[in-house]
Amino acid sequence: MMRNFPNLQRQDTAMPGASPHRRAVLAGLGAALLAPALPIVPARAAIPPFRGKLGSFEISVVSDGTLNVPLSFALPDTPATEAAKLFASQGMPPEGLVPQTNVTLVNTGGELVLIDAGSGPKFQPTAGKLSENLEAAGIDPKTISKVVFTHGHADHLWGAIDDFDDAERFPNAKYVISAAEWDFWTHPDTPSRSPDWMKGMAIGSARILKQIEKKVERRNAGDTVAPGMIYVATPGHTPGHMAVGVENGGQQLLVGGDVFNNNAVSFAKPEWRVGSDFDPNQGMTTRKQLLDQLATDRIPLIGFHLSWPGYGMIERRGPAYRFVPV
Ligand SMILES: [Zn+2]
Repeated sequence: MMRNFPNLQRQDTAMPGASPHRRAVLAGLGAALLAPALPIVPARAAIPPFRGKLGSFEISVVSDGTLNVPLSFALPDTPATEAAKLFASQGMPPEGLVPQTNVTLVNTGGELVLIDAGSGPKFQPTAGKLSENLEAAGIDPKTISKVVFTHGHADHLWGAIDDFDDAERFPNAKYVISAAEWDFWTHPDTPSRSPDWMKGMAIGSARILKQIEKKVERRNAGDTVAPGMIYVATPGHTPGHMAVGVENGGQQLLVGGDVFNNNAVSFAKPEWRVGSDFDPNQGMTTRKQLLDQLATDRIPLIGFHLSWPGYGMIERRGPAYRFVPV
């Protein structure tokens, strides 16, 4: 299964070693994330899920809300005017980024598998809406049998715990995370060795992982993580970042996590350095390899932060690519 997804890169399990330069560049992002430069978009009423089929699997995308990310953080090396030009050329507003948070739910017939858990309400006020959107879609959190994490960032992990009563939001679920990602976030030195914007997140993510530790399976690239689903090594955004390859009835889909996080940038300018990538060079290498593979093999993608619902195909366009929503 999933012979089309070789391990893209050897997993780098080395401890984080943010360079002084990178630290300097990212200094202050914590504050930026807490006090976004962009106006807060008022919480919307429940968003109905996007639904599709993959063989006999039912695929849903459920929104956890939106995030606000300052452009200067998202694209630290790109002059604002150049970014604005690219956004304008693709019909997107030039002033900044309001990433979606598209959570994928796979109903295999026997299991209900959530890929990432959203952020919960403590990360940004416009996010943490997964519970209400699941509820509105008639999906009881108690029926989720497994949560597979792509990586340990707050917007993917923290929603596993309901802060209101400090209990698991999906009480009957087992959890799967990549072994490298587990080691990274639970290492006692990770907060102090993280760039400033990630220090608080590292403490929070370690706390959440401790809370669910007894029910966590740690898996590696190529491992089956749920029926018809395997981990695909896609490091760079975080050291142990995994995409999830889904296959059923001869059809394939890649749930890409944060390898591609912007409709305008990720496909047209995959070489632009992404501020939230822990290892930006590795992130770029992974992005380019995956673009080539998804375009060549005609495999659809669900991107966590792409325009709702983030489901589409990748096509070659000149020397780069473009994303074509399905
Ligand atoms: Zn993310």
